[in-house]
Amino acid sequence: MNYAELAKHIEAIEGAAVIGSVSSERFPLYRIRCGQGMPVLLSGAVHGDEPAGAHALVEFFRNHSARYEDKFAFTAFPCVNPWGFEHEQRGNEQGLNLNREFKEDTTAEEIKLMLSLISRYRFAMDLHESWTGASRVPGAAEPDGEDPNEFFMWEICKDKEQRVGATIIQRVRAAGLPICTWPKIFNEVNTEGVIAYPEAIATPCYAQGTSFDAYSERMLTEHSFTIETSREWPLEKRVLADIISITTMLEACLESGQQAK
Ligand SMILES: [Zn+2]
Repeated sequence: MNYAELAKHIEAIEGAAVIGSVSSERFPLYRIRCGQGMPVLLSGAVHGDEPAGAHALVEFFRNHSARYEDKFAFTAFPCVNPWGFEHEQRGNEQGLNLNREFKEDTTAEEIKLMLSLISRYRFAMDLHESWTGASRVPGAAEPDGEDPNEFFMWEICKDKEQRVGATIIQRVRAAGLPICTWPKIFNEVNTEGVIAYPEAIATPCYAQGTSFDAYSERMLTEHSFTIETSREWPLEKRVLADIISITTMLEACLESGQQAK
């Protein structure tokens, strides 16, 4: 699917709007807003060659979000990197890895647009995918080691009691999808598919805090996720894993809200 086709699907979602245009090809950048209640931030395709997140957000707002819209106010950027999506490139047209551009002085126009429009959230979830042995934008390779071919995530939440990663893993596994159980991923401690920050942080480029989840933790929320499916799986399975991740966290928020009453 090219970006124009994806854009058609996004435009069909109520609450979708163009917030600007990016790259020399002036691709429209979209934000979706809907619902009322706890604010939630969702994003996909920060890396343009990881399209499942964009498809998953279209699917979520088409078929799943309605039953949560009386409890949550959604803000979503379904495809943060339109140029990369169109050209199947990890970076944007300038070759910037947008997941290192979440900083006030960024020169990436996609991120400038986003940062001007975001505030505080109950949680933030950014949908990514792992590539195994695929070519990458020069200089944008992941640090140390190979990408897993199985589902995993980063969960950033200081309060261990509030963490939901293990429940997401359980549900993704129950759906028949494989979980990465390597003891370490990119040199960081992986506990049954969850790299839990802040304690697991070991990767220097993540410690700089310019990835979306680290920026979110600093500026936007006390709970953020980077979800990783595998490009080796059929698209519908990657979308399913993303949907399970989003809805499991939404349900956990509702449960913890009830306990507080
Ligand atoms: Zn990625």
